[in-house]
This record gives sequence, C-alpha cells and structure tokens, in this order.
Amino acid sequence: MHGNVIMNMNLDKQAREMLQTAKLYRTRNRMNILKVLLKARKPLSQEQIAQHSGKNHFNKVTIYRTLESLLKVGLVHKAFIDKRASHYELAHNCTEHQCHPHFTCTNCGRTHCLKDISLPMTPSPYKGFIINRQQVHFEGLCPECA
Ligand SMILES: [Zn+2]
Ligand SMILES: [Zn+2]
Repeated sequence: MHGNVIMNMNLDKQAREMLQTAKLYRTRNRMNILKVLLKARKPLSQEQIAQHSGKNHFNKVTIYRTLESLLKVGLVHKAFIDKRASHYELAHNCTEHQCHPHFTCTNCGRTHCLKDISLPMTPSPYKGFIINRQQVHFEGLCPECA
C-alpha cells in the first residue's frame, strides 16, 4: 500500500510538471488523463483510458476533449490505430516525424513500447506521396504467449 501512495504522489508531480512545461492550464481532467497514461506506460484507446480512470470515471466527451488539448501541445500523441480506435500515449522520446515502434501480441492483445528501437525513415514509395510521420507497428507473440 505504501509503495502505491508514493507512486501516486510521483505521478501527480510528473503530471503537474508536464502541464507546466507545456504552459497548459491545470485542470482535474488533464491531470487525471496524464496520470492514467503515465501509469499505463503504453498506448491506450479512449475506452481503455475510461476503464483505467477508476473512480474518476470520465465520460467519452470529456476524454476526447481533454486528449485533444493534450495532443495540441504535444504532450500526447496517437501511437497507432487498432480496431478502428486511436491509441494515445505520452509523447516522450518522440520526434515530430517518428515515434518508437510498438508491438502488439495477437494472442493476449497487450501492446509494448519498443523505446530502444529507432528505425530509419522510409523514403516515399510513390511519386507524389509525402510521408510526414512514420509509425511502425509490429504484430506477433509476446514472450508469455510464444
Ligand atoms: Zn501475449
Ligand atoms: Zn509507445
């Protein structure tokens, strides 16, 4: 129990500092969603954010609007789309053009951030197409399911 209290205090501090750095007004919803994402350490869909928000249970509109404001200042980005749902995560270690690859296990559905991997940007494959952002998403089996 004690460990959890310390962790929550740190999350609070981190979330507060992130908002301060981004010069974004500190609201309860922003704090809560940042803390959910800090705690998760992996991309979450809006539905998963709602599930993880526990007793704060936000509604869909609140989550959407709050995410939009966090996206706008670059604190959060969309990691990938899975089953038609955007998955959001904190935009640490990411450049404007690329974020780390993700690995989703097709058996248990868990996603892992492959933060140590940086892949070269792929040149545009066809004439007239401009690549603004490269998002690599691997699928396969995680060690527990393999
Ligand atoms: Zn798995
Ligand atoms: Zn990630």
